[in-house]
Amino acid sequence: MKTDVVILGSGPAGIQAAIHAARKKAGVIVLGRPEKSAINGAHVENYCCTEETLKGVEMVDDGVKQAQKFGAIFINEDAVEAKVLEGSFMVKLEGGEEITAKSMVLAIGIKRNSAGVKGESEYLGRGVSYCVECDANFYKNKKAAVLGDGSAAASGAVLLSKYAREVTLISRELKVTEALKKEVLSSGVTFKEGAWIEEINGDGKKVISLSLTDGSTENIDGIFIELGAKGAMELATGLGVALDQEQLKYIETDKKQATNIPGIFAAGDICGAPFQMAKAVGEGCVAGINAADYSGKKKV
Ligand SMILES: Cc1cc2nc3c(=O)[nH]c(=O)nc-3n(C[C@H](O)[C@H](O)[C@H](O)COP(=O)(O)OP(=O)(O)OC[C@H]3O[C@@H](n4cnc5c(N)ncnc54)[C@H](O)[C@@H]3O)c2cc1C
Repeated sequence: MKTDVVILGSGPAGIQAAIHAARKKAGVIVLGRPEKSAINGAHVENYCCTEETLKGVEMVDDGVKQAQKFGAIFINEDAVEAKVLEGSFMVKLEGGEEITAKSMVLAIGIKRNSAGVKGESEYLGRGVSYCVECDANFYKNKKAAVLGDGSAAASGAVLLSKYAREVTLISRELKVTEALKKEVLSSGVTFKEGAWIEEINGDGKKVISLSLTDGSTENIDGIFIELGAKGAMELATGLGVALDQEQLKYIETDKKQATNIPGIFAAGDICGAPFQMAKAVGEGCVAGINAADYSGKKKV
């Protein structure tokens, strides 16, 4: 199969890229599973121009229909291989089919690291969250904990303390700057170092407490697991796309969302923090426009 623009990823970044590329009359094929987008389990209340809290799953569903209306074709399969050819790109699908495209947008998101503890997947979205920035507001006047050893966990705990009544930061060994450690302590966060979660306990409907490795129990309404994310290393290595020099996890782009490989653009969480839908669609828009232009289609 041949197309102008192939988009890897059907979350907010990929969908927005598809809308803008298709509206420039480029042929667009979008790969991936919309139902696997990170936004699917979210209740969104920080996205511009929507006063109501929106269900992520409905936003993605509407986004796919919107992009299809402008001509984008969605294939519900992941890319298993991507290659740079002379003057084009080849992407192989799970079923073995190959797509050749003049330009490519990488929008495959990130995979958040899980703690791998009992109760974690069972209570996801019912007291277990991976994003303080996204969900802190749901813990107004409640008691919540943050798990992690790095700066995401420490700054997450500080942010959460502005909403929640009580916050506990659970850490094996906090590896952050002295300044951030001081900020944690002065923000009123209870700091529990040398401990980890053994089990997340619930009443069948929602989280109620945590059993910790030091033998104690924390009664809480919610737990934020802030253990960082897996990035785009594998895919990037295969394509020769450059990663950020600091963490070697996220794809580096310029203002056009272009990578170091001419014709390959990237957008959304795969380009780094903040992991937010507003950033993902903004970058998706820019990537979609520039990928369409690169593929040689004229502006309508
Ligand atoms: C629990 C939770 C709550 C959140 N709440 C909010 C919120 O309230 N507000 C907010 O702004 N943000 C929120 N976020 C963050 C938001 O979901 C992300 O920033 C956003 O989804 C990023 O969009 P993306 O398109 O970059 O990646 P994703 O939405 O993760 O989409 C990635 C897509 O790539 C596909 N894919 C993966 N591998 C391949 C492959 N090999 N080939 C093809 N496709 C592939 C996936 O199937 C998926 O469709 C939340 C996130 C979580 C986890």
